[in-house]
Amino acid sequence: MGFNPEDIRADFPILQTKVYGKPLVYLDNAATTQKPKSVVDTICGNYYAQNANIHRGVHFLSQRATEAHEEARKTVQKFLNAKSAREVIFTRGTTEAVNLVASSFGKAFCKEGDEIVVSQMEHHSNIVPWQILQSDRGVSLKVIPFDEKGVLQVDKLNDLLTERTKLVAVAHVSNTLGTVNPVKEIVRMAHERGIPVLVDGAQSVPHMKVDVQDIDADFYVFSGHKIYGPTGIGALYGKEEWLDKLPPYQGGGEMIKNVSFEKTTFNELPFKFEAGTPDYIGSTALAEAIRYVEAIGMDNIARHEQALLKYATEKLSQIENIRFIGEAENKSGLVSFLVGDIHPYDLGAILDKLGIAVRTGHHCAEPVMKAFGIEGTVRASFGIYNTLEEIDILAAGVERAARMFRR
Ligand code: PLP
Repeated sequence: MGFNPEDIRADFPILQTKVYGKPLVYLDNAATTQKPKSVVDTICGNYYAQNANIHRGVHFLSQRATEAHEEARKTVQKFLNAKSAREVIFTRGTTEAVNLVASSFGKAFCKEGDEIVVSQMEHHSNIVPWQILQSDRGVSLKVIPFDEKGVLQVDKLNDLLTERTKLVAVAHVSNTLGTVNPVKEIVRMAHERGIPVLVDGAQSVPHMKVDVQDIDADFYVFSGHKIYGPTGIGALYGKEEWLDKLPPYQGGGEMIKNVSFEKTTFNELPFKFEAGTPDYIGSTALAEAIRYVEAIGMDNIARHEQALLKYATEKLSQIENIRFIGEAENKSGLVSFLVGDIHPYDLGAILDKLGIAVRTGHHCAEPVMKAFGIEGTVRASFGIYNTLEEIDILAAGVERAARMFRR
């Protein structure tokens, strides 16, 4: 498929929405993306035609639903270039995947005095699970800082890694700054000391080709709803050798081999980590979303979003007193900014009246705000269906808001 945002827009009925009589300009893709018809149709089609609980049924519908769920796992495996489908665990999303690793890895490998290294630009969901481990196990957190442009100071990592470091957990792309972190290099540095790495791919998987074997991450996590898939489904990739060593996260049906009151044995991978009825409708819809982006081509998507980023940066730079938060060379398609002393919420509310959906606030990354000495930013984040015309509308909207406040 060639790349024409207009063709793509036709696949997303919600983009026809009028907001206060104006066409919707949806620039909140880092929070969640809209869904193409094929994904919504997959959800409906599954409920209409093949809904039955999976894995345990001998009957036709159950077998069909089971096959679709396991096919979906293979789709995720190939998409991430994981070695085996056993390395793909379905979760509710990035947050649950990080919590799974923090809890299971923590139980198996962490004790008082051990250290976990995160970065200063993490989303709260890659900070708080490790802090829970801190109170449960007495581990401490160490933080890789970023500079004034929002570039991670990877050269400081070597000093942070010690013989007590148990794991490094870092975002591939910052949801607030847009910075693309050199995760391959971070993994290499950690591996030189035998330390495993978890990469938070929530903001990378939708926007660039990700190859977990090339990155050599030990764990890689993402959310379906940020890649044009449904809410409530995501995945944890983990190297088999690690997943084998981790204890189950939750107990229940499906994750066991045998249960008796004397002794319970656990199922093999990946089921060991999937207690209870899985979201087999969500998994197949996620696979459809992956097929959708792959048909467009991840390289085409990256190129398109980079063009939007460049254009948005140029256009917005012309606005008096604009300040960008996050100016790394290697950025993903989002801009975080402030204009003069206008509160981000006020700016966002005015843009909303113009039909423009942006996000305002701390974006679940309060340490980033603290580093810049601010309360929040306005964030416009781009997706496959956004156009240069929409960037013009954004820039005109921000200019109009700025004028109102200058008066
Ligand atoms: N990590 C990053 C970098 C994110 O941007 C987000 C969501 O914005 C998350 C984690 C959490 O994702 P979810 O709420 O889908 O679990």
